[in-house]
Amino acid sequence: MITARKVDPRVWIGCLACYNAGRLVGDWYSADTADLVTPADLHKRETSHEELWVMDHEGFCGALDGECSPSEAAEIAEALSSLTEDEAAPFAAWVEVFGEQSDRAHWVDQFRDAYRGFYSDEAAYAQEWAEMTSSEEDKERMTRWPFNEIDWSRAADELFSGGLHAEDAPGGIWVFWSH
Ligand SMILES: [Zn+2]
Repeated sequence: MITARKVDPRVWIGCLACYNAGRLVGDWYSADTADLVTPADLHKRETSHEELWVMDHEGFCGALDGECSPSEAAEIAEALSSLTEDEAAPFAAWVEVFGEQSDRAHWVDQFRDAYRGFYSDEAAYAQEWAEMTSSEEDKERMTRWPFNEIDWSRAADELFSGGLHAEDAPGGIWVFWSH
């Protein structure tokens, strides 16, 4: 059985007291359990050092910027946990544009509501949208003049000024609904 690969964010958790003393003590951990890492885990012995900090990270699809606490990283990882590998790139693009408008606990759901898919360009989206939303009769009509000569780029201009948003993707665009 083939299952979609999941996004698996990782964090480098370091000890702040050691860091401030000029030593890097830390390691990479899976982000979803970052909040469970203890100072003793990190130092591999009992220690009086208490504060841990995420100093580096990977695989967050743009949902984490800079440094944060391990519990914050775990919270974001939890929000990302249902994201598949295929969704990761368009999700990152969506977060960059729309992420600040909502709470990150809902990012994945809101991304899925907004995401219309990958297209070669705006005109290709407009054409597919027209086909999806037309009756069989209309579809038949669209194969004949003058409808077979519809200027899809112009149709796309209207669609995209009415609430759709296109972000550059490798080889095309990702289309998002922006309301
Ligand atoms: Zn330490």
